[in-house]
Amino acid sequence: MSHAKRTVQHLDCRSKRVLMRVDFNVPVASGEVTDDTRIAAAMPTIRYLLQKGARLVLCSHLGRPKAGPEPKSSLRPVHTRLQRLLRQDVRWADDCIGEAAEAASRALADGEVLLLENLRFHPEEEANDAAFAGALARLGDCYVNDAFGAAHRAHASTEGVTHHLSPCVAGFLMQKELDYLGKALDQPQRPFVAILGGSKISGKIDVIMQLLGKVDRLLIGGAMMFTFARAQGLPTGRSLVEDDRVEMAREVLAQAAARGVNLVLPTDCLASTAPDGSAPSRPRRIAELASDEMGVDIGPESVQHFTEQLRGARTVLWNGPMGIFEVEAFAGGTMAIARACAALTGATTVVGGGDSVAAVQQSGLAERFSHLSTGGGASLEFLEGKVLPGVAALDDEVAS
Ligand code: ADP
Ligand code: MG
Repeated sequence: MSHAKRTVQHLDCRSKRVLMRVDFNVPVASGEVTDDTRIAAAMPTIRYLLQKGARLVLCSHLGRPKAGPEPKSSLRPVHTRLQRLLRQDVRWADDCIGEAAEAASRALADGEVLLLENLRFHPEEEANDAAFAGALARLGDCYVNDAFGAAHRAHASTEGVTHHLSPCVAGFLMQKELDYLGKALDQPQRPFVAILGGSKISGKIDVIMQLLGKVDRLLIGGAMMFTFARAQGLPTGRSLVEDDRVEMAREVLAQAAARGVNLVLPTDCLASTAPDGSAPSRPRRIAELASDEMGVDIGPESVQHFTEQLRGARTVLWNGPMGIFEVEAFAGGTMAIARACAALTGATTVVGGGDSVAAVQQSGLAERFSHLSTGGGASLEFLEGKVLPGVAALDDEVAS
Protein backbone atom coordinates (compact mmCIF):
# COMPACT_ATOMS: atom_id res chain seq x y z
CA MET A 1 0.00 0.00 0.00
CA SER A 2 1.29 3.44 -0.86
CA HIS A 3 1.06 6.23 1.68
CA ALA A 4 1.96 8.97 -0.78
CA LYS A 5 -0.17 12.07 -0.46
CA ARG A 6 -0.14 15.35 -2.35
CA THR A 7 1.85 17.97 -0.53
CA VAL A 8 2.05 21.74 -0.26
CA GLN A 9 4.65 21.69 -3.01
CA HIS A 10 1.84 21.02 -5.46
CA LEU A 11 -0.39 23.72 -4.03
CA ASP A 12 -1.12 26.86 -5.98
CA CYS A 13 -1.66 29.09 -2.97
CA ARG A 14 -0.80 32.67 -3.96
CA SER A 15 -3.52 35.01 -2.70
CA LYS A 16 -5.50 31.99 -1.50
CA ARG A 17 -6.76 31.52 2.02
CA VAL A 18 -5.08 28.32 3.18
CA LEU A 19 -6.78 26.67 6.15
CA MET A 20 -4.04 24.69 7.86
CA ARG A 21 -4.52 22.23 10.71
CA VAL A 22 -1.46 22.23 12.97
CA ASP A 23 -0.65 20.45 16.21
CA PHE A 24 -0.03 23.30 18.61
CA ASN A 25 -1.06 21.17 21.59
CA VAL A 26 1.86 22.41 23.67
CA PRO A 27 2.39 22.55 27.43
CA VAL A 28 1.42 25.90 28.94
CA ALA A 29 2.16 27.13 32.48
CA SER A 30 1.12 30.52 33.89
CA GLY A 31 0.13 31.75 30.45
CA GLU A 32 3.45 30.81 28.83
CA VAL A 33 4.37 28.06 26.40
CA THR A 34 6.95 25.93 28.24
CA ASP A 35 8.01 23.76 25.29
CA ASP A 36 7.58 25.04 21.73
CA THR A 37 8.89 21.94 19.92
CA ARG A 38 5.55 21.36 18.22
CA ILE A 39 5.24 24.97 17.07
CA ALA A 40 8.77 24.86 15.71
CA ALA A 41 8.00 21.59 13.92
CA ALA A 42 5.29 23.28 11.83
CA MET A 43 7.49 26.27 10.91
CA PRO A 44 8.89 24.87 7.64
CA THR A 45 5.38 24.52 6.21
CA ILE A 46 4.23 27.87 7.60
CA ARG A 47 7.27 29.71 6.21
CA TYR A 48 6.99 27.99 2.85
CA LEU A 49 3.33 28.93 2.42
CA LEU A 50 3.90 32.53 3.48
CA GLN A 51 6.79 32.87 1.06
CA LYS A 52 4.49 31.61 -1.67
CA GLY A 53 2.05 34.41 -0.88
CA ALA A 54 -0.61 32.36 0.87
CA ARG A 55 -3.07 33.92 3.30
CA LEU A 56 -2.64 31.49 6.13
CA VAL A 57 -5.34 30.52 8.63
CA LEU A 58 -3.98 28.24 11.38
CA CYS A 59 -6.15 26.04 13.58
CA SER A 60 -5.30 23.64 16.40
CA HIS A 61 -6.57 22.04 19.57
CA LEU A 62 -4.92 22.45 22.95
CA GLY A 63 -5.62 20.26 25.97
CA ARG A 64 -8.94 18.63 26.65
CA PRO A 65 -11.48 21.34 27.40
CA LYS A 66 -14.65 19.55 28.43
CA ALA A 67 -17.44 22.11 28.43
CA GLY A 68 -16.72 24.96 26.07
CA PRO A 69 -14.14 27.73 26.40
CA GLU A 70 -11.81 27.72 29.43
CA PRO A 71 -8.85 30.08 29.93
CA LYS A 72 -6.30 27.37 30.67
CA SER A 73 -6.79 25.83 27.23
CA SER A 74 -6.63 29.07 25.27
CA LEU A 75 -4.21 29.26 22.34
CA ARG A 76 -3.36 32.86 23.32
CA PRO A 77 0.06 31.88 24.72
CA VAL A 78 0.74 30.04 21.45
CA HIS A 79 -0.16 33.21 19.56
CA THR A 80 2.52 35.11 21.49
CA ARG A 81 5.16 32.45 20.90
CA LEU A 82 4.27 32.06 17.23
CA GLN A 83 4.75 35.78 16.61
CA ARG A 84 8.15 35.57 18.23
CA LEU A 85 9.22 32.53 16.20
CA LEU A 86 7.89 33.95 12.93
CA ARG A 87 9.09 37.48 13.63
CA GLN A 88 5.93 38.84 12.14
CA ASP A 89 2.47 39.90 13.28
CA VAL A 90 -0.07 37.14 13.63
CA ARG A 91 -3.77 38.02 13.64
CA TRP A 92 -6.00 36.45 16.22
CA ALA A 93 -9.61 35.25 16.32
CA ASP A 94 -11.38 34.62 19.64
CA ASP A 95 -13.48 31.89 18.12
CA CYS A 96 -12.47 29.37 15.46
CA ILE A 97 -15.74 29.74 13.56
CA GLY A 98 -18.28 32.50 13.01
CA GLU A 99 -18.52 35.93 11.47
CA ALA A 100 -15.51 37.52 13.19
CA ALA A 101 -13.17 34.68 12.20
CA GLU A 102 -14.51 34.72 8.67
CA ALA A 103 -14.04 38.47 8.35
CA ALA A 104 -10.51 38.14 9.74
CA SER A 105 -9.68 35.46 7.18
CA ARG A 106 -10.99 37.67 4.37
CA ALA A 107 -8.99 40.64 5.61
CA LEU A 108 -5.68 38.79 5.28
CA ALA A 109 -3.22 40.02 2.67
CA ASP A 110 -0.75 37.73 0.87
CA GLY A 111 1.86 36.45 3.32
CA GLU A 112 -0.22 37.22 6.41
CA VAL A 113 -1.27 34.80 9.16
CA LEU A 114 -4.31 34.35 11.35
CA LEU A 115 -4.41 32.00 14.35
CA LEU A 116 -7.79 30.72 15.52
CA GLU A 117 -8.76 30.01 19.11
CA ASN A 118 -8.89 26.37 20.30
CA LEU A 119 -10.97 24.11 18.04
CA ARG A 120 -12.05 22.01 21.03
CA PHE A 121 -13.90 24.91 22.60
CA HIS A 122 -16.62 23.48 20.37
CA PRO A 123 -17.55 19.87 21.24
CA GLU A 124 -18.59 19.58 17.58
CA GLU A 125 -14.89 19.41 16.66
CA GLU A 126 -14.34 15.98 18.23
CA ALA A 127 -17.83 14.84 17.21
CA ASN A 128 -16.85 15.59 13.60
CA ASP A 129 -20.08 17.54 13.26
CA ALA A 130 -20.88 18.29 9.63
CA ALA A 131 -22.22 21.81 10.20
CA PHE A 132 -19.19 22.74 12.31
CA ALA A 133 -16.85 21.35 9.64
CA GLY A 134 -18.72 23.43 7.07
CA ALA A 135 -18.33 26.56 9.20
CA LEU A 136 -14.60 25.90 9.56
CA ALA A 137 -14.26 25.37 5.82
CA ARG A 138 -15.58 28.90 5.21
CA LEU A 139 -12.26 30.22 6.54
CA GLY A 140 -10.22 28.73 3.71
CA ASP A 141 -10.09 28.21 -0.04
CA CYS A 142 -7.95 25.08 0.28
CA TYR A 143 -6.67 22.85 3.08
CA VAL A 144 -3.33 21.73 4.48
CA ASN A 145 -2.90 19.21 7.28
CA ASP A 146 0.44 19.30 9.11
CA ALA A 147 -0.88 17.79 12.34
CA PHE A 148 0.24 14.17 12.14
CA GLY A 149 -0.30 13.83 15.89
CA ALA A 150 -4.04 14.41 15.41
CA ALA A 151 -4.45 12.40 12.19
CA HIS A 152 -5.59 9.21 13.93
CA ARG A 153 -8.81 10.93 14.96
CA ALA A 154 -11.65 11.68 12.56
CA HIS A 155 -12.45 15.15 13.85
CA ALA A 156 -14.03 18.08 12.03
CA SER A 157 -10.67 19.80 11.49
CA THR A 158 -8.86 16.65 10.34
CA GLU A 159 -11.57 14.85 8.38
CA GLY A 160 -14.94 16.61 8.12
CA VAL A 161 -13.49 19.82 6.72
CA THR A 162 -11.86 18.00 3.81
CA HIS A 163 -15.29 17.30 2.32
CA HIS A 164 -15.77 21.02 1.79
CA LEU A 165 -12.35 22.11 0.50
CA SER A 166 -10.14 21.22 -2.42
CA PRO A 167 -7.31 20.58 -2.79
CA CYS A 168 -6.48 18.97 0.56
CA VAL A 169 -2.77 18.33 0.92
CA ALA A 170 -0.12 17.32 3.46
CA GLY A 171 2.32 19.77 5.02
CA PHE A 172 6.04 19.01 5.22
CA LEU A 173 5.85 17.60 8.75
CA MET A 174 2.98 15.30 7.83
CA GLN A 175 4.84 14.27 4.70
CA LYS A 176 8.00 13.49 6.67
CA GLU A 177 6.08 11.32 9.13
CA LEU A 178 4.34 9.36 6.37
CA ASP A 179 7.60 9.03 4.51
CA TYR A 180 9.67 7.60 7.36
CA LEU A 181 7.01 5.46 8.99
CA GLY A 182 5.59 4.38 5.64
CA LYS A 183 8.97 3.38 4.21
CA ALA A 184 9.81 1.37 7.31
CA LEU A 185 6.59 -0.60 6.92
CA ASP A 186 6.39 -0.84 3.15
CA GLN A 187 9.90 -1.02 1.80
CA PRO A 188 12.45 -1.30 4.60
CA GLN A 189 16.12 -1.68 3.80
CA ARG A 190 17.27 -4.93 5.37
CA PRO A 191 18.20 -6.07 7.88
CA PHE A 192 15.18 -4.46 9.50
CA VAL A 193 15.34 -4.52 13.31
CA ALA A 194 12.49 -3.43 15.58
CA ILE A 195 13.01 -2.62 19.24
CA LEU A 196 9.91 -2.74 21.40
CA GLY A 197 9.55 -1.86 25.05
CA GLY A 198 7.43 0.32 27.29
CA SER A 199 5.02 -0.60 29.97
CA LYS A 200 2.35 -2.81 28.52
CA ILE A 201 2.18 -5.56 25.99
CA SER A 202 -1.59 -4.99 25.79
CA GLY A 203 -1.17 -1.57 24.19
CA LYS A 204 1.42 -2.82 21.73
CA ILE A 205 0.18 -6.23 20.67
CA ASP A 206 -1.13 -5.06 17.30
CA VAL A 207 2.18 -3.36 16.58
CA ILE A 208 4.05 -6.53 17.52
CA MET A 209 1.86 -8.66 15.26
CA GLN A 210 2.18 -6.22 12.37
CA LEU A 211 5.96 -6.01 12.75
CA LEU A 212 6.38 -9.77 13.04
CA GLY A 213 5.45 -10.03 9.39
CA LYS A 214 8.01 -7.43 8.33
CA VAL A 215 11.14 -7.45 10.48
CA ASP A 216 14.23 -9.64 10.50
CA ARG A 217 14.80 -9.23 14.22
CA LEU A 218 12.57 -8.12 17.06
CA LEU A 219 14.22 -7.04 20.32
CA ILE A 220 11.92 -6.85 23.33
CA GLY A 221 12.67 -4.91 26.52
CA GLY A 222 10.65 -2.76 28.91
CA ALA A 223 8.09 -4.15 31.31
CA MET A 224 6.53 -6.29 28.58
CA MET A 225 9.58 -8.55 28.67
CA PHE A 226 8.25 -9.97 31.94
CA THR A 227 4.96 -11.05 30.43
CA PHE A 228 7.10 -12.98 27.94
CA ALA A 229 9.23 -14.32 30.82
CA ARG A 230 6.07 -15.57 32.52
CA ALA A 231 5.00 -17.19 29.25
CA GLN A 232 8.30 -19.04 29.21
CA GLY A 233 7.92 -20.18 32.79
CA LEU A 234 10.65 -17.92 34.12
CA PRO A 235 10.44 -16.13 37.48
CA THR A 236 9.21 -12.54 37.35
CA GLY A 237 9.25 -11.51 41.04
CA ARG A 238 7.21 -8.33 41.50
CA SER A 239 7.82 -7.12 37.93
CA LEU A 240 4.95 -5.65 35.97
CA VAL A 241 3.32 -8.71 34.40
CA GLU A 242 0.00 -8.64 32.59
CA ASP A 243 -1.48 -11.93 33.68
CA ASP A 244 -4.27 -11.76 31.13
CA ARG A 245 -1.74 -11.33 28.30
CA VAL A 246 0.51 -14.30 29.01
CA GLU A 247 -1.35 -16.39 26.48
CA MET A 248 -0.89 -13.61 23.94
CA ALA A 249 2.85 -13.55 24.60
CA ARG A 250 2.94 -17.30 23.99
CA GLU A 251 1.17 -16.75 20.69
CA VAL A 252 3.74 -14.10 19.70
CA LEU A 253 6.58 -16.49 20.49
CA ALA A 254 4.96 -19.21 18.39
CA GLN A 255 4.31 -16.81 15.49
CA ALA A 256 7.89 -15.57 15.55
CA ALA A 257 9.17 -19.14 15.41
CA ALA A 258 6.79 -20.00 12.57
CA ARG A 259 7.82 -16.94 10.53
CA GLY A 260 11.52 -17.33 11.18
CA VAL A 261 11.76 -13.97 12.92
CA ASN A 262 14.57 -13.73 15.40
CA LEU A 263 12.73 -12.62 18.55
CA VAL A 264 15.31 -11.59 21.11
CA LEU A 265 14.39 -11.42 24.79
CA PRO A 266 16.66 -10.12 27.56
CA THR A 267 18.61 -12.69 29.55
CA ASP A 268 19.17 -10.33 32.44
CA CYS A 269 17.63 -7.25 33.97
CA LEU A 270 18.32 -4.57 36.52
CA ALA A 271 16.49 -5.63 39.67
CA SER A 272 15.29 -3.50 42.55
CA THR A 273 12.69 -3.69 45.30
CA ALA A 274 11.23 -0.26 44.48
CA PRO A 275 10.22 1.19 41.11
CA ASP A 276 10.94 4.79 42.17
CA GLY A 277 14.68 4.51 42.73
CA SER A 278 14.42 4.62 46.52
CA ALA A 279 16.07 1.20 46.92
CA PRO A 280 19.37 -0.10 45.54
CA SER A 281 19.45 -2.04 42.29
CA ARG A 282 21.66 -4.74 40.82
CA PRO A 283 21.93 -6.79 37.65
CA ARG A 284 20.17 -10.15 37.84
CA ARG A 285 19.71 -13.02 35.43
CA ILE A 286 15.99 -13.29 34.72
CA ALA A 287 16.12 -16.92 35.82
CA GLU A 288 17.40 -15.81 39.23
CA LEU A 289 15.02 -12.95 39.95
CA ALA A 290 13.99 -13.07 43.63
CA SER A 291 10.35 -12.96 44.67
CA ASP A 292 10.62 -9.49 46.26
CA GLU A 293 12.48 -7.97 43.29
CA MET A 294 11.16 -6.30 40.16
CA GLY A 295 12.87 -5.77 36.85
CA VAL A 296 13.25 -2.05 36.21
CA ASP A 297 15.55 -2.07 33.16
CA ILE A 298 17.30 -4.51 30.84
CA GLY A 299 20.61 -5.77 32.24
CA PRO A 300 24.19 -5.28 30.98
CA GLU A 301 24.37 -8.65 29.24
CA SER A 302 21.15 -7.88 27.36
CA VAL A 303 22.41 -4.42 26.43
CA GLN A 304 25.43 -6.05 24.87
CA HIS A 305 23.32 -8.66 23.15
CA PHE A 306 20.87 -6.07 21.76
CA THR A 307 23.77 -3.92 20.58
CA GLU A 308 25.16 -6.88 18.64
CA GLN A 309 21.76 -7.55 17.12
CA LEU A 310 21.59 -3.93 15.97
CA ARG A 311 24.93 -4.07 14.22
CA GLY A 312 24.58 -3.97 10.44
CA ALA A 313 20.91 -2.98 10.61
CA ARG A 314 19.75 -0.80 7.70
CA THR A 315 16.36 0.06 9.18
CA VAL A 316 15.62 0.41 12.89
CA LEU A 317 12.23 1.12 14.34
CA TRP A 318 12.10 1.78 18.07
CA ASN A 319 9.01 2.06 20.21
CA GLY A 320 9.01 1.86 23.98
CA PRO A 321 11.80 2.51 26.51
CA MET A 322 13.85 -0.45 27.79
CA GLY A 323 13.25 0.41 31.44
CA ILE A 324 11.85 2.99 33.84
CA PHE A 325 14.03 5.65 32.21
CA GLU A 326 12.38 8.47 34.17
CA VAL A 327 14.41 7.25 37.18
CA GLU A 328 18.03 8.07 36.44
CA ALA A 329 19.38 4.89 38.02
CA PHE A 330 17.13 2.82 35.73
CA ALA A 331 17.78 4.74 32.50
CA GLY A 332 21.02 2.94 31.61
CA GLY A 333 19.55 0.33 29.28
CA THR A 334 17.46 2.83 27.35
CA MET A 335 20.41 5.21 27.00
CA ALA A 336 22.70 2.40 25.86
CA ILE A 337 20.23 1.40 23.15
CA ALA A 338 19.99 5.07 22.10
CA ARG A 339 23.79 5.09 21.76
CA ALA A 340 23.77 1.84 19.80
CA CYS A 341 21.20 3.25 17.35
CA ALA A 342 23.02 6.57 17.08
CA ALA A 343 26.26 4.76 16.26
CA LEU A 344 24.80 2.97 13.24
CA THR A 345 26.02 4.27 9.92
CA GLY A 346 23.94 4.05 6.77
CA ALA A 347 20.83 3.05 8.70
CA THR A 348 17.44 4.71 8.83
CA THR A 349 16.55 5.03 12.50
CA VAL A 350 12.99 5.91 13.42
CA VAL A 351 11.57 6.40 16.91
CA GLY A 352 7.84 6.45 17.65
CA GLY A 353 5.94 6.91 20.89
CA GLY A 354 5.83 9.84 23.28
CA ASP A 355 7.99 8.37 26.02
CA SER A 356 10.47 6.82 23.62
CA VAL A 357 11.01 10.16 21.89
CA ALA A 358 11.41 11.85 25.29
CA ALA A 359 14.02 9.22 26.21
CA VAL A 360 15.99 9.79 23.01
CA GLN A 361 15.87 13.54 23.60
CA GLN A 362 17.10 12.92 27.14
CA SER A 363 20.04 10.97 25.70
CA GLY A 364 21.26 14.06 23.86
CA LEU A 365 21.58 11.99 20.68
CA ALA A 366 18.36 13.04 18.97
CA GLU A 367 20.28 14.62 16.06
CA ARG A 368 21.81 11.27 15.22
CA PHE A 369 18.44 9.64 14.53
CA SER A 370 16.78 9.84 11.11
CA HIS A 371 13.36 10.65 12.49
CA LEU A 372 11.62 11.14 15.82
CA SER A 373 7.89 10.90 15.29
CA THR A 374 5.86 13.82 16.65
CA GLY A 375 2.68 11.78 16.98
CA GLY A 376 2.51 9.38 19.91
CA GLY A 377 -0.87 7.72 19.41
CA ALA A 378 -0.89 8.43 15.68
CA SER A 379 2.46 6.76 15.07
CA LEU A 380 1.36 3.68 17.06
CA GLU A 381 -1.83 3.35 15.05
CA PHE A 382 0.13 3.84 11.84
CA LEU A 383 2.53 1.08 12.88
CA GLU A 384 -0.43 -1.18 13.66
CA GLY A 385 -1.24 -0.88 9.97
CA LYS A 386 -4.38 1.18 10.54
CA VAL A 387 -5.49 3.79 8.06
CA LEU A 388 -5.40 7.18 9.78
CA PRO A 389 -8.61 9.08 8.90
CA GLY A 390 -6.80 12.43 8.75
CA VAL A 391 -4.35 10.98 6.24
CA ALA A 392 -6.91 9.08 4.19
CA ALA A 393 -8.85 12.34 3.77
CA LEU A 394 -5.97 14.03 1.92
CA ASP A 395 -5.61 13.93 -1.85
CA ASP A 396 -3.47 11.08 -3.15
CA GLU A 397 -0.27 11.93 -4.90
CA VAL A 398 -0.84 12.06 -8.62
CA ALA A 399 1.52 9.73 -10.45
CA SER A 400 3.67 11.74 -12.81
P1 ADP B 1 5.82 5.11 24.36
O1 ADP B 1 5.15 6.34 24.94
O2 ADP B 1 7.14 5.42 23.79
O3 ADP B 1 4.91 4.38 23.41
P2 ADP B 1 5.05 3.47 26.61
O4 ADP B 1 4.06 4.52 27.00
O5 ADP B 1 4.52 2.19 26.07
O6 ADP B 1 6.12 4.09 25.56
O7 ADP B 1 5.95 3.07 27.84
C1 ADP B 1 6.70 3.99 28.57
C2 ADP B 1 6.70 3.65 30.01
O8 ADP B 1 7.13 2.32 30.23
C3 ADP B 1 7.65 4.53 30.79
O9 ADP B 1 6.90 5.34 31.66
C4 ADP B 1 8.52 3.54 31.55
O10 ADP B 1 8.75 3.92 32.90
C5 ADP B 1 7.71 2.27 31.51
N1 ADP B 1 8.55 1.09 31.69
C6 ADP B 1 9.56 0.65 30.92
N2 ADP B 1 10.14 -0.43 31.45
C7 ADP B 1 9.46 -0.71 32.59
C8 ADP B 1 9.59 -1.72 33.60
N3 ADP B 1 10.53 -2.65 33.52
N4 ADP B 1 8.72 -1.70 34.64
C9 ADP B 1 7.77 -0.74 34.71
N5 ADP B 1 7.59 0.22 33.79
C10 ADP B 1 8.44 0.25 32.74
MG1 MG C 1 3.65 6.54 26.48
